[in-house]
Amino acid sequence: MRSERRPRWLKENEVAMAYIITRLCRDCVDTACVAVCPVDCIYLYKGSDTATFPNQLYIHPDECIDCGACEPECPWQAIFEEAAVPEVFSDDTPLNYKMMEKTDDFEVAQHETQQKPASDEIEKNKKKWGWG
Ligand code: SF4
Repeated sequence: MRSERRPRWLKENEVAMAYIITRLCRDCVDTACVAVCPVDCIYLYKGSDTATFPNQLYIHPDECIDCGACEPECPWQAIFEEAAVPEVFSDDTPLNYKMMEKTDDFEVAQHETQQKPASDEIEKNKKKWGWG
């Protein structure tokens, strides 16, 4: 999806892709991913249009360097490489991109230590959003 910024290491016929935070993050907002992101490109929405930008974390697609460090850290398993976002979460990819239109309403998320969910809570959250 991304086209403006091409990392230097990308070959001519390769397409750059970001990591995407899906709705599995909603109202969970565990910041374990924030602690490992080397470029501080994981954001929280601070504006009032919560119908458009619900309570979850967002990755800035043009700042993400595609390192993948965040993906295994999310206890809710909410983060996917863009090409691997499940179909049921396909709306979440453009939502992460949409934050680039409103960057003034976002701030870099800060890491806070949180209690990790139990495996049954993770599965329940997946079912709630239609996955699994
Ligand atoms: Fe940050 Fe790397 Fe995750 Fe992108 S893939 S959001 S740079 S930790």
